[in-house]
Amino acid sequence: MNDNIKQRLFDKGIQANIEEAGEYHKEAFEALKHLDKLTDEYRSTIASYTVGKTAHTQTEYGMAYTLNGKTAITVQPIAHRVNKAIDALGLGKKQPLGTTYHEFVHFLSQSREKVDPEFWKEIRKIKREYEGIRGKSNWFDIKISDYASKDVDEFLAEAFTQAKLSDTPSPYSKRVLDVVDKYFKKEIQNRKKYKIKAAEWAGQPEGEGRGVNIKKSYADFLSRLREEQSLDAHKSRMALYAESTQILEDNELPAPFAYIPDLDVIKYNPNAPYIGDYDMDYVFAHEISYRMDELEYHSWENEKFLQAIEICAGKVYAQREKVQNWFEPGGQYEQSFAVSDIISALTNGEMAGMVGHSEAYWSEIWLKAMELFADISAADILELPEKEELRGLLKELFKAYEEMVR
Ligand SMILES: [Zn+2]
Repeated sequence: MNDNIKQRLFDKGIQANIEEAGEYHKEAFEALKHLDKLTDEYRSTIASYTVGKTAHTQTEYGMAYTLNGKTAITVQPIAHRVNKAIDALGLGKKQPLGTTYHEFVHFLSQSREKVDPEFWKEIRKIKREYEGIRGKSNWFDIKISDYASKDVDEFLAEAFTQAKLSDTPSPYSKRVLDVVDKYFKKEIQNRKKYKIKAAEWAGQPEGEGRGVNIKKSYADFLSRLREEQSLDAHKSRMALYAESTQILEDNELPAPFAYIPDLDVIKYNPNAPYIGDYDMDYVFAHEISYRMDELEYHSWENEKFLQAIEICAGKVYAQREKVQNWFEPGGQYEQSFAVSDIISALTNGEMAGMVGHSEAYWSEIWLKAMELFADISAADILELPEKEELRGLLKELFKAYEEMVR
């Protein structure tokens, strides 16, 4: 798991090293998971994250500095200690994560010349209003921390940290977070991706393809599978299947990727629009799961799996509002292809995030079973955060899947 997160960060261009965490290793690892989430959520310049000693002139338990436009973060081991006396931001149990969030958002201060000046104008305006309350009777209701008043950089870092981690953030912290989200959240990029995926499924691709090295991505995927040496039967089997899977280029393919059962190959079209924007690990895990299902598992003939589809569809309809909220802006699964595709299948295309096949597509039960199998298997193999829902609302499906593969 540790190596998994480190690898994920490495793939995003971030070197992580928490070996110096000592007695706080568990907390440091938890912080690393949050850094992984943060760097999925925001465009950042973070290139390294280290737990270790920083210069003792530091006024905080960590530091962020920039070299050649890339930000390096160091967090002291002791930053992960819970200390109620200095929990100024009211983070409670999440206090050990505070320094990581604080230093994370300092990448914005570090790369100031590259950041839209309008961003800093908006942050300064909030800070002015905030300081204007000082001395008034409601100051302690809205106060963020003493350190937040130091300068605009620390105001930003303290407010962001509080808005992200406290159950009762200052309204000014929330306003700061809104501004950070507006300028730095990857949302726009992801929405673009979803639109493309939706267009592709509707058979109307748009935009330009660009150079991608699918063979190399596949070789990387393969070597990661080999290295894992998992005791998990399904994972080991996927490694075997992956070794023997043929990946063929086909410039006529009407989709970026597809498993072709008749030929037993995975095809890709290097000129497909935005093919380079896909999460290749997800694509490969998904397509190879399809292949395994076709050749071995036969999910569409598995009574228990088919029953689980009915049960989970019923549960999704019964909790319609909650599920819809997953896909709203800022929702838990707004950016999840897997969950969106699963919900789309369960509701015959009626409910979905930004992506999903049409109602006609889902009218074939075998297609529905295979697509669900591939999504669940990919989320399982890659240990995606979506697994949480596979053990929650979708647990019958996951159980039936597990019985098939384990
Ligand atoms: Zn700071």
